Amino acid sequence: MILQTDSVGEQTAHSQPASCIEGTHPGGEPMERPSLLARTASLVVVVVPLIGLVTAVALLWGTGFSWVHLGLLVGGYVLTALGITVGYHRFFTHKSFETNAVVKAVLGVLGSMAVEGSIMHWVATHRRHHQHSDRDSDPHSPNTHGGGLWEMIKGVYHAHIGWFFTPAPVNMERYVPDLAADGVTRWVSRLFPLWVALGLLIPGGIALAITGSWIGAGLGVLWGGVVRVFLVHHVTWSINSVCHLWGTRPFDSRDHSRNNVIFGILGLGEGWHNNHHAFPTSARHGLSWWQIDIGYMVIRTLEFFGLARAIRVPAPDRIAGRRAGR
Ligand SMILES: [Zn+2]
Ligand SMILES: [Zn+2]
Repeated sequence: MILQTDSVGEQTAHSQPASCIEGTHPGGEPMERPSLLARTASLVVVVVPLIGLVTAVALLWGTGFSWVHLGLLVGGYVLTALGITVGYHRFFTHKSFETNAVVKAVLGVLGSMAVEGSIMHWVATHRRHHQHSDRDSDPHSPNTHGGGLWEMIKGVYHAHIGWFFTPAPVNMERYVPDLAADGVTRWVSRLFPLWVALGLLIPGGIALAITGSWIGAGLGVLWGGVVRVFLVHHVTWSINSVCHLWGTRPFDSRDHSRNNVIFGILGLGEGWHNNHHAFPTSARHGLSWWQIDIGYMVIRTLEFFGLARAIRVPAPDRIAGRRAGR
């Protein structure tokens, strides 16, 4: 069942705390557009290491790399990135669909294997991001560090990686009372270190079974575990940095969120970030037919098999009414 939310429904669809409703911050002060320099810097910071990694893979081809390890890298990437976008983000944070306890646990475990923190911590941080988008209390905005060159570089670094190393405010649990009340979520969240370890060991075990060698197993851990985590990290963090600096803004979302086609695809739908900030509870982030949204396709597939229900999407007139310039 697809739930289309009208202008009232979009408000009432939030089953998360009222403080997490994004795009409606009190005051909604006007903001300046980030400069070309800031946006270019973020793109370089993100794209160059990826190009380096692709080059390394090409150089290793036939020596330290094999189809088995490529399969583990791609398969592990898709599964754990889905754990983040479908699980951590669309299900646990924004309640954009409902499911059963088993699927909930699987999504939580896959998201944990991306090594971005426990469910509780990730969701609390992300709800705080929506509550304070691109303002001082946003945990990872690139746009709150001043207008000089050095401040802009610091902003891009902070939004992409630096925020990861800054202490979170106390009482973060106030953002997740709904999750704390759910036994399955508490259980998966508490065992976070176990899921991280399994996320590294399982690809090693699969590689050992296929190649029959311990070197093959080690390379399985490297490519299916470590390199896969590196890729998922940088794609996820690019939503925080690149997608608040570089891309289009079809909706007036009162922050700097942007739709970025590269991360729309690499992030399995996450890069349609301006759409997401305009309609936070929507299970569908790619709102136009050409905006590929793998995460939404997976949610609809789960629905087909009876594993997802009450999928929230904004009604067409609601989407048209929120378009910038109207
Ligand atoms: Zn954002
Ligand atoms: Zn969100």
